[in-house]
Amino acid sequence: MPWIPRGLRDGIVTSRYPHRPDGYGEGFRGTVVVHPGREGDHRVAAIAEACPTGAISIEAGQPRLDRGRCILCGRCTEMYPQAFRFDPGFESSAVRRDRLVVPEGDEDDAALALARSELARRVKALRRSVHIRHVDAGSDGADEWEVAALTNPVYDVQRLGIYFTASPKHADLLLVTGVGAVGMLGPLSQTFEVMPEPKVVIAAGVDAISGGLIGNGYATRGGVADSLPVDVFVPGSPPTPFALLHGILLAIGLLPTARRGATRRSMNPRPSVQSERAAHGPSSPEDPPREDGP
Ligand code: SF4
Repeated sequence: MPWIPRGLRDGIVTSRYPHRPDGYGEGFRGTVVVHPGREGDHRVAAIAEACPTGAISIEAGQPRLDRGRCILCGRCTEMYPQAFRFDPGFESSAVRRDRLVVPEGDEDDAALALARSELARRVKALRRSVHIRHVDAGSDGADEWEVAALTNPVYDVQRLGIYFTASPKHADLLLVTGVGAVGMLGPLSQTFEVMPEPKVVIAAGVDAISGGLIGNGYATRGGVADSLPVDVFVPGSPPTPFALLHGILLAIGLLPTARRGATRRSMNPRPSVQSERAAHGPSSPEDPPREDGP
């Protein structure tokens, strides 16, 4: 709870992410990382069997973990901590579904760069402000708590020109949570159709990406990727507000190039010293030097 001492000290609890790294994110289970070099290890095969969502596989003798399926239950990290461990990193969103499988291959870096640059070009008009329409397509409610937290004083996404809207006709970005319940596919499609161009779609959470624990069934479609043209995948179960924010910034083309300066200049007019201090409190010794300060 680092925001408690910060709030008591400065009177301000609002995160400075993405302009500055923030310790808030480190208290969460972010992702599971896989140690390399476990070729032929029979314990990995046993853990792949034990994973409740089939997120672990073995390719060419090496373990692979699909973050688009991982519900962060912790079973693998408890059974075999030498091979699997939690990492607090939350910048795990991807513009391609296959990039959620780790360890990543580097053979298609050019294709990945092309996908990101095309997305950035398409959404260029959204960089000063973006309006989000959130649709729950069959969630258990956990994802919605995290989405709602984006507007609280700690994350305060409005400071970045990010707003939620009730009308899809006013929305630039469709944020979808839930397993893709059959009854929601029609409303989801209608929402997407009436959104003006340019528009971008985020599948937020493992349920929306792959169906999570429920997967594909008579009442679900194993996520929404087959029903919508998803641009950004945000893993997590549920994804933390920081993970969601990273996905939103990625979707509107503001990551990763020159993130601090570019984001500040693109999304907000340059703030005055007075307004920055009002927003974040006085500078503290641990703050990094300002890039564009007076
Ligand atoms: S933490 Fe993820 S990969 Fe590990 S067992 Fe649970 S669901 Fe599977």
